[in-house]
This record gives sequence, structure tokens and C-alpha cells, in this order.
Amino acid sequence: MTINLSNSYRDLGESFSQNILPDPVAQPSLLLWNEALAQTLGLTFDLTPNNESDADLLAQYFSGNRLIEGSKPVAQAYSGHQFGQFNPQLGDGRAHLLGDVEDAQGQRWDIQLKGSGVSQFSRQGDGRCALGPALREYIMSEAMFALGVPTTRCLAVVTTGQSVYRERPFAGAVVTRIATSHIRVGTFQYFSARGDTDSLKTLVNYSIERHFPELLSELAADTLIATEDNEISSEEVLNFFSAVLSKQVPLVLSWLRVGFIHGVMNTDNTTISGETIDYGPCAMMNAYHAETVFSSIDRNSRYAFGKQISIMQWNMTRLAETLLPLIDSDEDVAVAQLQPLLAQFHQDFEENYLRMMAVKIGIDEPEQGDGKLISELIAIMQKNSMDYTKTFTSLTDVLTDSLNGSLVEMPLLSILSEWLPRWQTRIAAFKIAAHELMVSNNPVVIPRNHHVEAILANTQATGDLTALNQFLAVLRQPYTRLDNTEKYQDSPANGDENYHTFCGT
Ligand code: AMP
Ligand code: MG
Repeated sequence: MTINLSNSYRDLGESFSQNILPDPVAQPSLLLWNEALAQTLGLTFDLTPNNESDADLLAQYFSGNRLIEGSKPVAQAYSGHQFGQFNPQLGDGRAHLLGDVEDAQGQRWDIQLKGSGVSQFSRQGDGRCALGPALREYIMSEAMFALGVPTTRCLAVVTTGQSVYRERPFAGAVVTRIATSHIRVGTFQYFSARGDTDSLKTLVNYSIERHFPELLSELAADTLIATEDNEISSEEVLNFFSAVLSKQVPLVLSWLRVGFIHGVMNTDNTTISGETIDYGPCAMMNAYHAETVFSSIDRNSRYAFGKQISIMQWNMTRLAETLLPLIDSDEDVAVAQLQPLLAQFHQDFEENYLRMMAVKIGIDEPEQGDGKLISELIAIMQKNSMDYTKTFTSLTDVLTDSLNGSLVEMPLLSILSEWLPRWQTRIAAFKIAAHELMVSNNPVVIPRNHHVEAILANTQATGDLTALNQFLAVLRQPYTRLDNTEKYQDSPANGDENYHTFCGT
């Protein structure tokens, strides 16, 4: 296997991670292999996973039983606010970062095993992962990627031949996660909580090099020299923070566009790269309601669908707090410099939320009055528990028919009888462009909770991947009606009434 692995995170020093090897599993067997992703990463294995012995080798590598050449695994340290409560000691309790690879475009990617054994960060946990949550992460992240949502992805799922005990025994698995990095808001909080300003500087410098190299060229030459001494100017820190904020706006807005509820937006589950991470208790919204929440442990609905923007703002304020000592020794001065960036962040969300929703109804350049048109549609959807995805695809169909000169019969039309003509008037002058926008921004299929659960149950009961692969084939083209798409478009009969998700352990 030719894979050029670096261990750049481990090289940052001992305060950042624990050197620890994955704990071998009894009987590794390759269940899922994401060949498209492997190619994107430029991982060239001198083998085809169809060949049994080759699949065995992949199972060895992606269970942690055998190390990829050059890999020096670590468990990363981080803290985090969990449901608003600060926990200074989290970290990879069941994950091993094997290293990072550079793709043909020069983008670096972390390769991380999850479910691969304990570390010093495991606390009471067993370091393992059950097959169900591993499959769920694979399906959901593939769906999100195809939907155009920034996300971590899964390269492989390997079953371990060992049971993991939750309320009862479940089959165990190791999932390989790929991310542009696993640096979280909680990583900054870890050093901030310890008053370790030197490590914070190292982390900012590393994060800039890794995620925002364009900031380096903007800096004066003397700052670059200073970087080698692990110094950093306040300007550089502010630019870094601004760059992190700019990644979070498209992230959360794309969640809102497709009806995704993350479910556990703790600061340790918020990456600075703006990639969706941690698919434990996530779910999709069927009937529209801003208060929709499925996670069994989110009793105060902290992470409800409609609160995700304000929670991201809260999380970014926590990140800002960690950067204060790098900006000025006088905290008031530092706060005064960060505050305008947070104010701008709020404004960016507001403006871009309007743009995103406008695009869903075919409007590229929102004008005065469009905000009202959108909020009225949302109010109607909420009042009538209308299916979020279907509302927009039906509106697209209305427009398709109007362009074709035919008339549609849809229950939707009677509910929207007052709203519809106003929208039609608004887009009358640019119907073709509006239609194109709507088709490419409103998915016809999403990974609906009841289908995901049915596929997981079926796959675990039979060990047969046919249903899962059929589902994935549809989810990989969410803006196109394929032969099988209709099978997965229905909203649940009981309207998700008793649906609950759990933190993926
Ligand atoms: P999560 O809920 O996946 O974001 O995890 C929160 C924290 O709990 C992280 O520090 C995880 O590493 C840790 N954790 C979750 N599940 C386990 C487990 N089975 N064994 C050890 N640590 C775990
Ligand atoms: Mg997590």
C-alpha cells in the first residue's frame, strides 16, 4: 500500500495528544469500503477490495490491527461545553488519529479510527463502537456530502467479531473517519482551561497552516518569522477567528436548507473547519417545526432545529474567549477587538439565511418583502405540520407544470392558496432561472429517519448489504429522481411521533 502518511498533529507536542496504539480486535471483517472517497484521498492500495484477501488486508488496517506504514497513532486531547456545562477533560476516548494524508489538490485529510480502543481520555467508556451507530454515521455522512453539506466522511466500516455492551450486547465495529482536521472549539478550550498560552499559540498557527494558508501570505514577512518562534500577532489571531466564523455560516445554513438536526452541538462537536462532525443523535426533519428535537438526552431542546444558528453563535463566543490572551493582555481591549467580528457573524447569518431560504423558492437576489414572503411560508408549514422537503419539491413541481403549460392537482395548493399567487407573481419575470435554482437547492430525497432505521435494522439482522447499497445509491443523487427514489420519499406514517435518537456509542 502506498500511502504517504504524516503525523503532523502528534508533532505538535505532548500536551496535544496521547501516543497510543489501537487495541486489536478479535476478527476484523471489512463491511463497507468507500472507494470513491479512497480515490479522492489518493489512497492507492495495490489491491482491489473485491478480492477476498485484499478485503482482509483492508480490514486489518482499518480495524487498527495492523498499522499503515508511517502511522504513529494518537488520541487527541480536547475539552468541551456539553449541553452548556464545561467539561475540561474529554478527548478521544475511543478514537485514534492514524495520521494525515495530502490529496492531489494539496488538501490534507486526517484518517481517524473510531471504536478502536481506550485511551487516557476514556473515563468510564469501553473505547468501542457498536455497528449500528457506525453504519448510521456512514449513511448520514454520505447523504450529507451528496446534499452539498460540508461534512466529515467515512472511509470504511469494519466489524470486529466482538460484542460491545450497551443495555445489551451489540455487534462491534470500527469506523474510519476522514476530516480536513479534527480540531474543535473544545481543542482551544482545553488549553485555555489550563492557562497554556504557548500551546494555544501553537494551535492557532497549526490551524492557520492547515485550514487557512491564504492568511499566511497576507501577513507581513516579520510575522512569518515570528511564527517560527511560536509568536503570533493579534491581527493574525483576529484574521484566524474571522476565517473560522466564515466557515460556520455555510455549514449551519446548509443544515437548515436540507432539514438536518445535528442533535449534539456541544463545543467538542464543533470543528473550526466548519465540517459536520459526530453523527450520534442527528436526525432529519419531516414535518416542519422550528422546535423539532429527537435526541433523547436533549431534554431542554437546546439543540432544536430552529436554534442551531444561535447555538453556533454561542459556540463561537466560547472560541473567542479562548483567544483573548493572544490578542491583548488587557482583556477589555481584546474583547473590544473580537466583538465586532461576532457582531458581523450575527449579521452574516441573518443576511445569508434570507438568501438561502429565498433560493429555495427560486429567488436569487432577495428584495424588500421577500423576508415576509418566506416567513409566511414557514408559518403556514409549521401551522399545518407540512413536510419540509415535500413542500419545496412540490413548489418546484408547480413551477415545472407552469413552465410546461399544464396544471397540477396537489393538496398543497389548497393549503397555500393565498400564498401561492403572491409567490408566482414575485417570480413571474424569471421563471426558468427560478426553476433551475429550486431544482438544484431543494433535495427530492433525504435520509429520512424511518428509512435509515429500517435499513440499519435490516442490515444488522441479515448481514446483507443489498438494501443499504440501494439506499445509498439514491442518497448519492439527492437532487435527481432516479427509478428507486420514490421508495424513500415518503414521510413517516405517524409523523415521527415516537422517534428518539441516542448519542452514538
Ligand atoms: P461524543 O458523544 O461521541 O461526542 O463523545 C463525547 C466524549 O465521550 C468524547 O470524549 C468521547 O471520546 C467519549 N466517548 C464516547 N463514547 C465512548 C466510549 N464508548 N468509550 C470511551 N469514550 C467514549
Ligand atoms: Mg464527539
